[in-house]
Amino acid sequence: MIQLVRGFRDILPDEVAVWQHIEQVARDRFECFGFSEIRTPVIEQTALFQRSIGENTDIVEKEMYTFPGSRETLLTLRPEATASVVRAYIQHKLYAKDPVQKLYSIGPMFRKERPQKGRYRQFYQINAEVFGIESPYMDAHLIFMLVRFFEALDIPGLRVHLNSLGCPECRKAYREALQAAFIGKMDLLCSDCVRRMDKNPLRLLDCKVPGCREVVSDAPSMSDFLCADCSVHFQTVRAGLDAMGVSFEVDPRLVRGLDYYTRTAFEIQTDALGAQSAVAGGGRYDGLVAQLGGPSMPAVGFAIGMDRLVELVLARHPAGVRPPELFFAAMGAAAWEWSFQWANLLSEQGIRVEIDFSERSLKALMRRADRLGAKFVLIVGERELAENTASLRHMETKEQTAVPVDNLVAAVKETIRASDS
Ligand code: ATP
Ligand code: MG
Repeated sequence: MIQLVRGFRDILPDEVAVWQHIEQVARDRFECFGFSEIRTPVIEQTALFQRSIGENTDIVEKEMYTFPGSRETLLTLRPEATASVVRAYIQHKLYAKDPVQKLYSIGPMFRKERPQKGRYRQFYQINAEVFGIESPYMDAHLIFMLVRFFEALDIPGLRVHLNSLGCPECRKAYREALQAAFIGKMDLLCSDCVRRMDKNPLRLLDCKVPGCREVVSDAPSMSDFLCADCSVHFQTVRAGLDAMGVSFEVDPRLVRGLDYYTRTAFEIQTDALGAQSAVAGGGRYDGLVAQLGGPSMPAVGFAIGMDRLVELVLARHPAGVRPPELFFAAMGAAAWEWSFQWANLLSEQGIRVEIDFSERSLKALMRRADRLGAKFVLIVGERELAENTASLRHMETKEQTAVPVDNLVAAVKETIRASDS
């Protein structure tokens, strides 16, 4: 038997209900905050990710699914969404209509990472990006929206980690300070970090290798190097969060795994996940739109890891498909044919209906209705039909009412509605 590819997974119907619920809450909430959905393809030119995420990052160095396209271009399965959304913003000149665009998207990302719990090679993200707003209040607003979204899903033990990565100017001094701090400790660093020391010493702060973590534990902090403007920006983000009652921790080691971030960087973590503790991450990327060929345009955004979020929701709320509202239990061929027609009609009317296609006894039918968790069963026999009635049985209360079959739709709808309220 041909099996699933390692690092990939199926999401089975029981669990899909939770995915749909999360997607629905995201759509409802984000739209209230003025966001519209954008959908971009899962394949882009490799160069897009090399130029945005950065050459000396884990993602670009070793995690991308890349393959030849037509002619000389290499193509890549998107490892993240921001680069694609920025490309679309520039390509379709969305800024010409209105530089301020608030966009969200939901979909799969692909990274060739080592598969483990909470880490897949195809995983799903909900992304939000805001273009054209430089104000630090936007950063605070976005984090507020994110935290409230998690609360709406009843996620426990959330922690907001916050840092500022400064701008290219003040970061230069910081990079030099990091290089100076690490240069004497090269023999304690992993080979990746040794290699990155030159071009990208900030990456060392993010390295998960224990030896490297030790080395960076007393490294200088970006906050001591922020220029006046970046410093005010960071202060205002914090003040904005305070004003809205969002608690957070300033985490000077937080750098994120992508090169395009400027100023604000944040991550939402929870203890409930074990090692893979980040459920969302984001930050400001004021230079990226221009870097990818667009106008100079500030931007800020985040990505929520749906796979981990589903796990958190499932831990509190068990999954399951939605049970049928109405199960037809027909006795005899004429009653079955009658039921078959009405089952189709009621499904069309927006009622979740099940009908059994085998000939079974009433007892067996009732057992099946019970196993499916059906709310009501409509019991129909030849005699009932002749009398123009059928029995509608409430499975929980076991109450049974006679309903007129010539007015079935209205009667069934009415009964279901009454039992819901
Ligand atoms: P991590 O530190 O867990 O590797 P990251 O910094 O690489 O995360 P981002 O690129 O910022 O993550 O993506 C945002 C979110 O997407 C993460 O917080 C996480 O919840 C989720 N995520 C990232 N990579 C994976 C993966 N391979 N499998 C499942 N979820 C993932
Ligand atoms: Mg990662």
